[in-house]
Amino acid sequence: MNEVLLSFDLDHTLMINPFRRWVFPEINRWLQSHFSEEKPVNRLIREHRRRLSNGAYPEAYDWDDILCSVVLEHAIPFTVRELVEKHACVGKVWLFSDVLPAMDRLTQAGAHMVAATNGFTRYQRPVTDCLGLTPYFGGFYTPEEMRYAKPQAAFFQFGKDRQVIHVGDRLDQDVLGANRAQQISVWIYREMPSDLRNLPITERTRHPLFSTCLNHRLHREGVPSAFHETCRPQYIICSLDELLKIWERELMSK
Ligand SMILES: [Mg+2]
Repeated sequence: MNEVLLSFDLDHTLMINPFRRWVFPEINRWLQSHFSEEKPVNRLIREHRRRLSNGAYPEAYDWDDILCSVVLEHAIPFTVRELVEKHACVGKVWLFSDVLPAMDRLTQAGAHMVAATNGFTRYQRPVTDCLGLTPYFGGFYTPEEMRYAKPQAAFFQFGKDRQVIHVGDRLDQDVLGANRAQQISVWIYREMPSDLRNLPITERTRHPLFSTCLNHRLHREGVPSAFHETCRPQYIICSLDELLKIWERELMSK
């Protein structure tokens, strides 16, 4: 193992997709003509969660199939993919401001980067194409291709024999999955308090404030306390600017 691969979660790590603000509201408006409740789109969310709790991880992210299963007897006049393509446009999707400068620096340094997301390719590519992100990735790994999803360790098989540094915003998916796969987990936490921010990257996870931040977020993500230890990231960063240092450090250690 002598190559280091940088893998990125997409949603809320690099970008904001159009699901919450545009796609789900449009689905909701159509569903309202068939169901009496105010938010029938919640039926999709419940089905998503049901699939997750049954261990059907890849299926839990197949929104077209979820929609079909919710409105069995009605002909659906659109696909979720079409709605994503319609709303994946400037002004409706966006990137965090640190993303492109950091991706440029990592590319110049020779880093191999891939996307590793729980969103199906057909829902993510229109967004990464619109935002100019796609060309940075040498691979695009998703549940329908891998047959697994984060936090399942097997999802990280895309790394093959390489050391993977996985960066993500979710402790219960990105960090837990990378830890289970014995890869390097990096939690991006843009709201990091300045006391933690001012410490060198290698010292942050030993600081008491780190545990406070971690427990607060785990509580928000609804992670049972028995799993807290497995959701501890190896690194915590407040900006993607800091990733180059981690990549160089891990490369040197090979
Ligand atoms: Mg995310």
